[in-house]
Amino acid sequence: MSRRIKVCRHEAAHAVVAHMLGFTVIRIKITGASTGFTETSCSKKTTCPMMLGMVAMAGKCADRRWHRIGRDWFPEGDLRTVKRLGYSWRAIATLEALAMAQVEEHADVIDRVARELKKRDLSAREFRALLK
Ligand SMILES: [Zn+2]
Repeated sequence: MSRRIKVCRHEAAHAVVAHMLGFTVIRIKITGASTGFTETSCSKKTTCPMMLGMVAMAGKCADRRWHRIGRDWFPEGDLRTVKRLGYSWRAIATLEALAMAQVEEHADVIDRVARELKKRDLSAREFRALLK
C-alpha cells in the first residue's frame, strides 16, 4: 500500500472526526509523501479541550486501524497538540479511545474522503460533498 493513502487516511480522519464533533473543515492538504494538514475551526480558543484532543488523536487512530501502526507510536505534531492542552498520558489514552470509536463509526466516510484526497487537496465544499 502506498504511503500516500496512509497520510490521506490520517488527514481524512482528523477532518471527518472534526466535522462529526461539529467543527467546520476549512481545507485538507497533502504537503508531502507522508505529511499533510487539515485546517478546521478547532483552533478557536473557545473550543472544548476534550473535542480538540479527540480531533488531534483521530489521525493516529486511522494509522492504527488501517495501517497496523503500533499503539506506542505518536505523530509528532498531534502529540504536541494534546500535550499543549495539558493532558497526562492516561488522559491521552482515554482521548485516543474516544477518537477510535469515532473513527470506527465513520470508517467508510474517512476512506471515501481519503481516496479523493489521494487525487487532490480538498476545499471545504469538496469535503462536504463527500459526506452525502
Ligand atoms: Zn495528524
